[in-house]
Amino acid sequence: MPPPKRLSAAEYVSGILAGSRTVLGRAITLVESTLPADQALAQAVVQAVLPHTGRSLRVGITGVPGVGKSTFIEALGRFLVETHGKKLAVLAIDPSSQRGGGSILGDKTRMPWLAAQPAAFIRPSPAGSSLGGVARATREALLLCEAAGHDVIFVETVGVGQSETAVHGMVDFFLLLMLAGAGDELQGLKRGIMEMADALCITKADHGNEQAARRARVDYQSALHLFPAAPSGQVPPVLLTSAVAGTGLAEVWAVIENYAAATQVSGYFQQRRQQQQLQWLHQSIVQALESRFYATAAVRERLPALQQAVAAGRVTPFAAATELLDLTDNQASATATP
Ligand code: GDP
Repeated sequence: MPPPKRLSAAEYVSGILAGSRTVLGRAITLVESTLPADQALAQAVVQAVLPHTGRSLRVGITGVPGVGKSTFIEALGRFLVETHGKKLAVLAIDPSSQRGGGSILGDKTRMPWLAAQPAAFIRPSPAGSSLGGVARATREALLLCEAAGHDVIFVETVGVGQSETAVHGMVDFFLLLMLAGAGDELQGLKRGIMEMADALCITKADHGNEQAARRARVDYQSALHLFPAAPSGQVPPVLLTSAVAGTGLAEVWAVIENYAAATQVSGYFQQRRQQQQLQWLHQSIVQALESRFYATAAVRERLPALQQAVAAGRVTPFAAATELLDLTDNQASATATP
């Protein structure tokens, strides 16, 4: 079957602003594409919707596989749609995900109730081998969802690797889900992740697990006291939830809303978003420079021999890098003065 025809930038923009899920989905496919023609069109679309973005509450959700992320997102999402009339989008970042296989973070089948709601939009992680590429696509998807009127955006990631840092860099509030009684309470938990969290949430506080959950809360609360104060000025609370019993969800949402309100008053909310924008600027520069560098003909020609020389210890990595960078300089000046 031939791929569906691309829309024009104006058609994407009007479809997104009108809240069309089909056009939103196709626009996200466009920002995920690595084809240069698609990227140019995608940038035009994202730029055009930019004035309509920024009005949602962006919440990152992380935790190890099995902690209950999808069940939690389904339950909290349902609460938001039913009780608060929210329009929700669920995005995901998983650099290991592949089309048609691998990880399925954000997969619709993991959240069947939400997937059937017109007020919820669920999108699996973009495929890709580089975290930078996956994160860029997700960040742009987030902006497109905001332009389509989604007022709460969840960005989900697995609690392993660098992807939490990427999610933390695009959200207003970062929620870390944890299990009680999974061996040593703090084992396997990277300190860096706990430091990023704006709240900790112990899942599955039900079915006789309540006492263990309460004990874990005390342990985590005391562990958090050892950390330096969060830049938001807010002390991360430790919450207890059961997605299955539906308990603790209203408290989680109250914490997130109160955090947003308090940081909007203090100015930290806007400051964090500004810092994120600047981070993205510099990451975009680095990514673009890197891909231009490796695409340069002279670099491609010289690289294999220099790699061998470096591996054999005949040339230092620094000298090789300098030689290759000089090649791109020469090429740039050659094109500048034809
Ligand atoms: P994920 O891998 O982090 O997305 O975790 P899932 O949401 O798939 O949940 C992992 C397992 O924990 C599943 O068997 C769920 O049924 C179970 N689970 C999730 N939330 C709860 C909960 O609130 N209470 C109980 N008892 N089990 C839960």
